[in-house]
Amino acid sequence: MSAAETKTRFAPSPTGELHLGNLRTALFNLLLARHEAGRFLLRIEDSDPERCRSEYAEALQADLRWLGLDWDEGPGVEGGHGPYFQSQRAEVYARFFTTLIEADLAYPCFCSEQELAVARTTQLNAGRPPRYPGTCARLTPAQREARLAEGRQPTLRFRVPAGEVVEFEDMVRGRQRFPSDDIGDFIIRRADGSAAFFFGNAVDDALMGVTHVLRGEDHLSNTPRQLLLLQALGLPAPQYGHIALIVGEDGAPLSKRHGSQSLRALRESGFLPAALLNHLARLGHTYEGDPGFMTLEQLATGFSVARLGRAPARHDPRQLLHWQKEAIAHAGDAELWDWLQGRRFADGGSIEERVPADQALAFVHAIRDNIELPVDAYVWAGDLFAETEHWDPDAKQVIRDAGAAFYRTALDCLETAADDFRAFGRALGKAASVKGKGLFMPLRAALTGELLDPERGGIWRNGPELGRLWPLLGRPRIERRLRAALALCES
Ligand code: GLU
Repeated sequence: MSAAETKTRFAPSPTGELHLGNLRTALFNLLLARHEAGRFLLRIEDSDPERCRSEYAEALQADLRWLGLDWDEGPGVEGGHGPYFQSQRAEVYARFFTTLIEADLAYPCFCSEQELAVARTTQLNAGRPPRYPGTCARLTPAQREARLAEGRQPTLRFRVPAGEVVEFEDMVRGRQRFPSDDIGDFIIRRADGSAAFFFGNAVDDALMGVTHVLRGEDHLSNTPRQLLLLQALGLPAPQYGHIALIVGEDGAPLSKRHGSQSLRALRESGFLPAALLNHLARLGHTYEGDPGFMTLEQLATGFSVARLGRAPARHDPRQLLHWQKEAIAHAGDAELWDWLQGRRFADGGSIEERVPADQALAFVHAIRDNIELPVDAYVWAGDLFAETEHWDPDAKQVIRDAGAAFYRTALDCLETAADDFRAFGRALGKAASVKGKGLFMPLRAALTGELLDPERGGIWRNGPELGRLWPLLGRPRIERRLRAALALCES
């Protein structure tokens, strides 16, 4: 692989939102380009007017930018090979259609959907793979004229050469062989005049100087067609690598059931770009020596086509949460506050309404080890800064079990050691003759109102350290909550 020449691309069709599958394709192509100090190109494959929407094209660019997957060439980044929207490349394609037609390597096809469906059924019933039967391949010029005169809009089909074997070296799957006789003549221009997928995709890769294509293995059987086309047009072919699809834990193709939402949905629920990148980079690709959390640059440095697996890649949502925790651990307090702000939670509230502005960073610092998603922080903010005391049932029980004497003693200790949690804890432990869990659980219950929250791991130890919460709560609130706990014991 010659470093200076490597150019990869991501070529999405804007027919829906980006999801883990196509994002991983984008990421792998970017990582390969960066690894080789090459270029990463973005091309929007929107030639099918029926299925593509410009909103999706806009959204996918915004999503890629949000993830930090910036393209070196593509929409908005001129690289001398544009336009980068296939819907704007009709003139480019027209030239190549003409070349093929003049060489009799392509012909108009007048078959209707219905006729094609009948042919397919007949072939399947006879135990043969369905292939275009060649009905229009041998029409005379007069027959073509007659059909055109009837006002029928033909598609254009590529004439697949008989008796050849298309061979190529797949970067992931090794040597591949496809007899051309298994491939029926295929459509390269739709009846509405737009370029069909095989055509636009192959021609554009060649014209845009793409050298390496990593894409899903669902495209493997398209590759021989595209190679035949490029050969017929005298255009260079990229090296293809077909990556194994992503499956859920049950081995079935990834779906919403496995927690594979759109990137939008994941972003809205608060997943960080770094978490998604670290997760995706390991779906079907392994890093040498299990290096842990990495920046995009490090992910690129360690990326290797040789480390792409052939077995389906399993998406485990717990793994994504693991990288989310890592991403949080690697972010600064101010960065995390930015991430938490400006969101509306299920009850319509926002975190900035709960956390006093001058305590924002101290709040983040106190709870950062105890959150996975913004909603966790929102719950903590509610617990810590609420003006009225409320306890969950487990907390109530612990408060009652600790008893009035414990909280009376705690209030006494507050008089002498309110500023320093360690000193307070020592004094209280001694005065109430309790330690460890017996000391901290009733305190935590009174001060945060919570012990158990299944959504946060379900064990009281998962709460932020009381020492960190102490300055955040402040003396007046601490005193009020201890009094309220005392009142609860006495009620
Ligand atoms: N537009 C195609 C898709 O979204 C691109 C396939 C390819 O990467 O070659 O599936």
